[in-house]
Amino acid sequence: MTTLTQKPWLESYPQEIPHSIQYEEKTLQSYLKRAADEFPDKVAFHFMGKEMANKAVYEEALKLANELRTLGVEQGDRVAIMLANTPQAVISYYGALLAGAVVVQTNPLYVEREIEHQMIDSGAKVMICLDLVYPRVAKVKDRTPLTHIIVTGIKDYLPFPKNMVYPFIQKKNTGIKVDLTYSDTLLSFTSLIDKGKAEEIELSIDPKQDLALLQYTGGTTGPAKGVMLTHYNLTVNTQQCEEWMYKMNPGEEVVMAALPFFHVYGMTTVMNLAVRMAFKMIIMPKFDPKAILKSIEKHKATLYPGAPTMYIGLLNHPDMKKHDLSSIKACISGSAPLPVEVQTKFEELSGGSLVEGYGLTETSPVAIANFIWGRRKQGSIGVPWPDTDVKVLSAETGEDARPNEVGELMIKGPQVMKGYWNQPEATQASFREDWFLTGDMGYMDEEGFFYIVDRKKDMIIAGGFNIYPREVEEVLYEHEAIQEACVIGVPDPYRGETVKAFIVLKEGAQVSEEDLDEHCRQELASFKLPKYYEFRDELPKTMVGKILRRVLVEEEKEKRNN
Ligand code: AMP
Repeated sequence: MTTLTQKPWLESYPQEIPHSIQYEEKTLQSYLKRAADEFPDKVAFHFMGKEMANKAVYEEALKLANELRTLGVEQGDRVAIMLANTPQAVISYYGALLAGAVVVQTNPLYVEREIEHQMIDSGAKVMICLDLVYPRVAKVKDRTPLTHIIVTGIKDYLPFPKNMVYPFIQKKNTGIKVDLTYSDTLLSFTSLIDKGKAEEIELSIDPKQDLALLQYTGGTTGPAKGVMLTHYNLTVNTQQCEEWMYKMNPGEEVVMAALPFFHVYGMTTVMNLAVRMAFKMIIMPKFDPKAILKSIEKHKATLYPGAPTMYIGLLNHPDMKKHDLSSIKACISGSAPLPVEVQTKFEELSGGSLVEGYGLTETSPVAIANFIWGRRKQGSIGVPWPDTDVKVLSAETGEDARPNEVGELMIKGPQVMKGYWNQPEATQASFREDWFLTGDMGYMDEEGFFYIVDRKKDMIIAGGFNIYPREVEEVLYEHEAIQEACVIGVPDPYRGETVKAFIVLKEGAQVSEEDLDEHCRQELASFKLPKYYEFRDELPKTMVGKILRRVLVEEEKEKRNN
């Protein structure tokens, strides 16, 4: 019988991908220096009609780094960045690293309470933010360790026309006007860069021990925790990415940068990979399907990493068939389950291979994926990456599970985090010996391909039967009228819990609850059928487009309490 320790997945590796990699022990910022040395004039990114070459990006980042040092930032200090995808986000990230700082990515949609928690917990000294989010930061600044805030507005930065309207924030915050009076502690990004010197700073960083990033995650069962990722964690994951995409050529590829850089998924698989490989990034400040379709065609993009909703969004756009997407070579979908229907349709309509991968903030993030050019199985998240070991902890016995037996996925590998910042107990609880406990339920088949059945805590128990929302959602997605579906458990006097489905229909589509029930009955045991349906215009989502199941759960709870 196959046991998990035999790594059966290695049999499926194509010969181009090594089972084990010789990792460079380098800092993350060394990637930008290399791009500037080896491809100085190659375009690093394109953003709303303007471009910047690698050498210029490196110099901008160095100037910022020197100014951060002048403000008192020392090696190991935390610098928070609260920016959407923009040139400034790339320059700030590498600038902070070149100064020796640890980056703390902050979601620009955070409200005051979340900003305050993150700044106090991380102890960030300096924050670089957009002018339009500044009022939120200003309200909490005095209650945090922040000493300086650096503000940037798109309109006043470098190569962009003065009258350009910032597309991402503008819609959400119409009416907000930010009048800033700069001071010793409130500084302008452009002024700093203008006076900064493009000189290298000497640092003594141990890539294996020293942190590059504190990335906040969780927060559903308490305040968000800071995941400590070292330079080594992040460079290893970028190198693993490179090996997985072995047909991609340094200095030649064009990547759609639509995943947010402030999420670890976009940070590694888009920004860090692009900088390491000197790919050109087409920076998209928000997910706008029309703009993405146009850009893929115009720039002949070859790589489009995304979350499932980003593929669904393109597929359902009326212009999808009007654009030529044949330049695309590869798409990796992660962060949530990729419905099989979506994968098949997207591949039919684009030139490339769309495969599913899996990871978490705690694993930098990618740990498992299907082969882009090689074996893959639909509905599977794929096989562990080089040097990565995955096993399943049986829910029944507490021992290693047998193939096809469901349990919690555990991961060991060089991309696994150092721990949670200032939380030794939480760190200890998330490891069993040196295996990281993912909190995701899944199984491995005989050939070493893994499958996620669900988050441990999302499982619905109806009359003693386990129901994994993903299975019900897969069936719903097969219905032609459905654009998005999310399934949760709601209390039921008879069965304890029962299934409720939230549905977004495709534009112009119509369907009744009876039709959906009929459809589901053909594919699912009766205890898994949704008892309730709710039709909505849209579902709540994270910035990477992951449907926020917990928000729907909370809304249901509130409804019941009122
Ligand atoms: P985050 O730390 O925000 O990246 O979220 C990590 C979580 O996303 C994992 O624990 C999974 O629950 C979920 N996830 C990531 N990739 C997948 C996938 N391919 N299928 C299902 N869930 C996924």
